[in-house]
Amino acid sequence: MRGMNDSATAPRSVTAMTEDELAALFKGWGEPAFRATQLREFLFRKGVASYEGVTNISKKLRERLAAEAPLYELAYAGGTAGDDAHKWLWKARDGALIESVQIRVPGRLTSCLSSQVGCAMGCVFCATGLSGFERHLRASEILDEYLQMWGRSGEHSSHVVFMGMGEPLHNYDEVIKAIRVLNAPPPKGCGIGARRITISTVGIPPGIKRLAGEQLQLELAVSLHAPDDETRARLIPVSKRYPIKEVMESVREFSRKTRRMVTYEYVLLAGVNDSEAQARDLGGLLQDHPCKANLIPFNAVEGVPYKRPELEAQERFKAVLERFHVPTTIRFSKGRSVDAACGQLRRRSLA
Ligand code: SF4
Repeated sequence: MRGMNDSATAPRSVTAMTEDELAALFKGWGEPAFRATQLREFLFRKGVASYEGVTNISKKLRERLAAEAPLYELAYAGGTAGDDAHKWLWKARDGALIESVQIRVPGRLTSCLSSQVGCAMGCVFCATGLSGFERHLRASEILDEYLQMWGRSGEHSSHVVFMGMGEPLHNYDEVIKAIRVLNAPPPKGCGIGARRITISTVGIPPGIKRLAGEQLQLELAVSLHAPDDETRARLIPVSKRYPIKEVMESVREFSRKTRRMVTYEYVLLAGVNDSEAQARDLGGLLQDHPCKANLIPFNAVEGVPYKRPELEAQERFKAVLERFHVPTTIRFSKGRSVDAACGQLRRRSLA
């Protein structure tokens, strides 16, 4: 495996250590244990790109930390800023490239995070899905994405969405571990309200049921993309394992236990899933629980043979869903100006 040796011998980053582990490190250096709280509090409250910005610790100690306990695991590998989005690229210690995006809409800045390198779900309209799965991200790497975007841009995101590369519920434990830090108040974490954190999934029933049992008020977005198993299996190969009936049961359980309104995402592909009959079937599935639908007209992806439906077909689909009393929005692209690649279909649902 690439870079495995480097990654095994590299010093652990602050984001990979618990507060106790960091306190033990300081004690081992003859420093008071409370330095750990001091450092984490600064990191989670201020947003810094490097130790230079950690001004509540002496320069000498910062230099030792930089050599023996780096702040972050991920290295900056590039970025592109556009009008409505800023795409960031990070290099992991094993050489893997990870993408994150900050997306701006009036009054809101959202950090769109990746949860895996590649993705195993294989959605046929997605660039990442077409290139396969490489590995899960660790919680510390996910946290790095958020903190480094903040530190480097100087702008604190009010919201977090797991809509980058990967299926977050396929990497359940590490994603939840990262969310608990993002959600906890400083010095334990970044203090982002759970209702401002969205997990976007293709619909993995065991993961949705587990999520329903966490004591977290997260937002859930489910990509349905078709109201029947046959069409859905064509678009999302992994859905062959999880029939729509099971997905819907797990979402209703989530909705019942958390009392959260679920969002359904539906990418509209001309001639594939945009007929009136399919809109009626979808309305039938969604009408019995609190939810809303985001229709995402497909935007061309290189090497993908699907087309965007005409405006009239988009509006007709929306009108049918509204007859079933499902609040429905047609979403427009966010992040196109920086060619935000994978998960781009999902990111378009942000507004
Ligand atoms: S759309 Fe999302 S779940 Fe589907 S392959 Fe792409 S990254 Fe994976």
